[in-house]
Amino acid sequence: MMLPTIPTPDELLDKGFRRGKKAADLRRGEKMPKRLKGKRIEETRVITACQVIKDRLKMILDRTPEIEELPEFYQDYIDITVGVDDFKQALGAVNWAYGIITQLEKEYGAKIRKAPSERATGLRKQAYGRISSVVHKIEKDLDFLDFAKQSLRNMPTVDFDAISIVIAGFPNVGKSTLLTHITDAEPQVANYPFTTKGIQIGHFEKRWQHYQIIDTPGLLDRPIGDMNDIELNAMVALEHLADAILFIFDASETCGYALENQYNLLEEIKNVFDAPIIYLFNKMDISDYDGARHDYVQEYIDKTENPLLISAAEGEGLEEIIQLIQQVEKREIAEEDEDEYEDDENYF
Ligand code: GDP
Repeated sequence: MMLPTIPTPDELLDKGFRRGKKAADLRRGEKMPKRLKGKRIEETRVITACQVIKDRLKMILDRTPEIEELPEFYQDYIDITVGVDDFKQALGAVNWAYGIITQLEKEYGAKIRKAPSERATGLRKQAYGRISSVVHKIEKDLDFLDFAKQSLRNMPTVDFDAISIVIAGFPNVGKSTLLTHITDAEPQVANYPFTTKGIQIGHFEKRWQHYQIIDTPGLLDRPIGDMNDIELNAMVALEHLADAILFIFDASETCGYALENQYNLLEEIKNVFDAPIIYLFNKMDISDYDGARHDYVQEYIDKTENPLLISAAEGEGLEEIIQLIQQVEKREIAEEDEDEYEDDENYF
């Protein structure tokens, strides 16, 4: 998401006062009675400074998207990353400053026009003092908005028309190998809270339907019991996005996690996610499934519904995965609301 560039209070004031002075200087050549001219010059300085500062504040407000109008995933994302309440409060402060400066512009414009000419410079200085104090009052809000801009700069770009599949499974089970094998081109890498490697989103298209496969190293690859509230929120944001979960077991256990632990992670994820789950047993090429480890691996295969046995590295079973993904339907939360609405209509 692109947020507008945020100035510091001093940058904002410097620009306003500098432009005020420039506009006033242009009037110096005008022909009019000297007494009147002095007042005009000071009035011009105040009004121009106020307008320049107001324009800049308005630009910040206009170019910042309305959070409530963003898709729920982005609202969650902003909330986890910077806090929606703080964000709104900072924008509220900018709006407040805009209002006060509008008032000062009117108030001091009128005062300078009415006052005797020898008071004009004093009034202009007074106005500048008050403008400066207002702008400095929103210093922490401007700081916050700048921090938000930096934090939200590399936000994931999600295609909300696509069917979204979120990959889960312990580290090294083959998640990113699978992602790169079933999607086109290089996956998009964006920031995601509580993940050092960020989020990876790959895309493919089948029969005019877009699919996006999402991997979040560092989030859906460890026990949920260890997570704090904010990390859980980061996960719930993914839950809002997922039309299905692709849960990957490493049947070879070369990832370093026993199948029992992998199964426990699956159980935890099932508790958090409502989305349907596609089960994959990966690294079948090195799992000795045809040999001594058959019964051991089979025990876990039998615990899951319609699992696919694959080898992501060797490209074995990828077509079957794509077929299963094509059966995934979009989870339409909005449509359910519509149904409720229709019921209400019938009621009357
Ligand atoms: P992630 O941490 O879950 O994303 O796992 P990676 O995709 O990085 O894979 C971890 C390691 O397992 C890498 O060295 C992969 O090459 C390897 N790997 C992934 N899938 C397979 C597979 O099907 N067979 C074999 N033999 N190795 C695999």
